[in-house]
Amino acid sequence: MSQNIQSVRGMNDILPDEAEFWELFEETVRGWLKSYGYRPIRLPIVEPTPLFKRAIGEVTDIVEKEMYSFEDSLNGEQLTLRPEGTAGCVRAVIQHNLAVQRPQRLYYMGQMFRHERPQKGRYRQFNQVGIEAFGFNGPDIDAEHILMGARLWDDLGLDGIKLQLNTLGQLEERAKYRAELVGYFEKYVDLLDEDAKRRLYTNPLRILDSKNPAMQEMIAGAPRLMQHLGAESMAHFEGVQQVLRDVGIPYEINTRLVRGLDYYNLTVFEWVTDRLGAQGTVCAGGRYDGLVEQLGGKATPACGFAMGVERLVTLIRESGGEPELEGTDVFLVHQGEAASRLAPRVAESLRDQGIDVLFNCGGGSFKSQMKKADASGATFAIIIGDDEASAGEVTLKSLRAEGGEQKRVGVDQVADEIMNSFFDEDEA
Ligand code: ATP
Ligand code: MG
Repeated sequence: MSQNIQSVRGMNDILPDEAEFWELFEETVRGWLKSYGYRPIRLPIVEPTPLFKRAIGEVTDIVEKEMYSFEDSLNGEQLTLRPEGTAGCVRAVIQHNLAVQRPQRLYYMGQMFRHERPQKGRYRQFNQVGIEAFGFNGPDIDAEHILMGARLWDDLGLDGIKLQLNTLGQLEERAKYRAELVGYFEKYVDLLDEDAKRRLYTNPLRILDSKNPAMQEMIAGAPRLMQHLGAESMAHFEGVQQVLRDVGIPYEINTRLVRGLDYYNLTVFEWVTDRLGAQGTVCAGGRYDGLVEQLGGKATPACGFAMGVERLVTLIRESGGEPELEGTDVFLVHQGEAASRLAPRVAESLRDQGIDVLFNCGGGSFKSQMKKADASGATFAIIIGDDEASAGEVTLKSLRAEGGEQKRVGVDQVADEIMNSFFDEDEA
């Protein structure tokens, strides 16, 4: 016998009980984005592989070992399932000259793909909501992005998500620092693990955020980038912090926060919780002023962030937030030939008036249909038997009121009855 086919490891089905949390999350997120003036952009899931190599950097976790890349067997093109959203967004902004006339505030949401070892909070297909702002120079937009994060956690009813902030300065400033850092690590080359050794000359900053306990003491003694930053970079950093202080957003400066992608400069930040174990970062981002030009566009300042939807939904569920799922308005019970002819017309005319109807499909006795009606969480049952049908009426039964109040109503009046009762409920 053949084995049933299973989903790909690390790529999960999200079943209705959980998917309802997702929808609630997405609704909150859409309202929140709109309130800050961000507009949607929908991007392909597949992009040319060189886009990610150039944008993210050759010596990064993502490009070195996490990308799902393949050759299009029809034309030999090298393609990759997007591991993140910024590269594709920048590509689109350049391709369509989006940020040339005026600045843009954009957002996207959707699946990302990384070939990582699956574990809690880390999957091979996962979802991000990301925002990107193009054409803004000052620290005000960096601060806006951070304020947005703080507000969203609040809107989602989440607490205990803490902000870590750092500045990476500019590329030139980093170059000087980098040389000094390499010199420092060379002195301790015996203490470096495999990863660190490999990165020593290609991406030494990444060694700073190694989680290897054996390297922590040595890393703590490493020289600080902050000491190499010029007045302008420091003023930008101070500008961001000024807004955070004014609005009252607590933060911690973490000088070891370097982020895993090469494109960042100046502000970088992460929102971290200690409730998700090792995978505690729910949102991360920063400024990437060089990327648009690096990908062939006109130099355009930019910054943004991406959040991990799985991790946030897990947090929402674990903090006990039940989605307030409203049952449907009406469950429609019908039995008998004339009744079952009338029933779809009644259901459609109710829907015309904006009333939600769960229609009994598959027949069954009145008793079994009423059981389904009760279990559905609907506010009303509408019952149509041949008796009602021949009179052009339905029985309207409250499933909420004690004792299940019910009455016969003409087919044309039932929508009004329902609307009025909703109205009464709001008044009460
Ligand atoms: P990490 O250090 O956890 O690997 P990262 O720096 O690779 O994170 P980013 O590229 O900054 O992550 O992605 C932004 C957010 O997307 C992360 O903070 C996280 O919430 C989420 N995320 C990243 N990779 C995964 C994954 N494999 N599964 C689920 N969520 C993820
Ligand atoms: Mg990663």
